[in-house]
Amino acid sequence: MARIFVIANQKGGVGKTTTSVNLAAALARLGQRTLLVDLDPQGNATMGSGIDKRSLKRTVYQVLIGLSDVVEATRQAPGSDYAVLPANRELAGAEVELVDFDERETRLKDALAAVDDQYDFVLIDCPPSLSLLTLNGFCAAHGVIIPMQCEYFALEGLSDLVNTIKKIHANFNTELKIIGLLRVMFDPRVTLSQQVSAQLEQHFGDKVFGTIIPRNVRLAEAPSYGLPGVVFDPQSKGAKAYMAFGAELIERMSKLEPVSDGLRRDA
Ligand code: ADP
Ligand code: MG
Repeated sequence: MARIFVIANQKGGVGKTTTSVNLAAALARLGQRTLLVDLDPQGNATMGSGIDKRSLKRTVYQVLIGLSDVVEATRQAPGSDYAVLPANRELAGAEVELVDFDERETRLKDALAAVDDQYDFVLIDCPPSLSLLTLNGFCAAHGVIIPMQCEYFALEGLSDLVNTIKKIHANFNTELKIIGLLRVMFDPRVTLSQQVSAQLEQHFGDKVFGTIIPRNVRLAEAPSYGLPGVVFDPQSKGAKAYMAFGAELIERMSKLEPVSDGLRRDA
């Protein structure tokens, strides 16, 4: 069964998409069958994977409203070894259209069930707001990976997010857990960053990933070439950090129990 993780943080510009794309590429490089789901109408994860969002006939939008299955809408990321369920602006319309559907928050979960045995990891890149799209991401996932910058307001924002996750756990998805907090765009020369980083470790203990992603310009340049930083410049500090993060995640998963599967008792 696939481990399904949502990359979430209600703030914009915190590195969700960069983490989604580079983690997908890293996991693929480490031999994991990986699907990246772009759940943001901006389509940044789609473009950053080298897929032109304007040229697509089928995207996650058609999947959510029942006009396509996942296999039909999935593309291979050129230059990398992971698959992408892409998105573009059309997806913004899903928010309104889904209102007429029953069980509208589990549309993605239900669709992904069909490809569950084809992947080891499914990563879902979310938009910043807590919309029906994001709720679909949370309902489909086993866990949340939270990228965050070590800034002054980071801890405050984090408690809002943790409360949201608790509510979703209570009302929609009892399987959902926080897999971990990932420190991103880290600049060790900034004293405040070090302080916030230390506070995070104090409050959240081993929920904080050991890997730290540095601020690295190669990660920011890579999307304009349609490549993950991990593929664009494997020797860069940012790429190496995301590779290390992929390895850390695989290691963490190997220590957890297998994903529960009510249907396969022999698994
Ligand atoms: P989000 O998806 O949360 O809105 P992005 O991943 O798009 O955030 O990142 C916001 C901006 O920061 C982008 O321009 C991206 O290239 C840049 N960025 C993200 N991570 C890093 C990093 N580790 N080093 C340098 N720039 C980064
Ligand atoms: Mg994004």
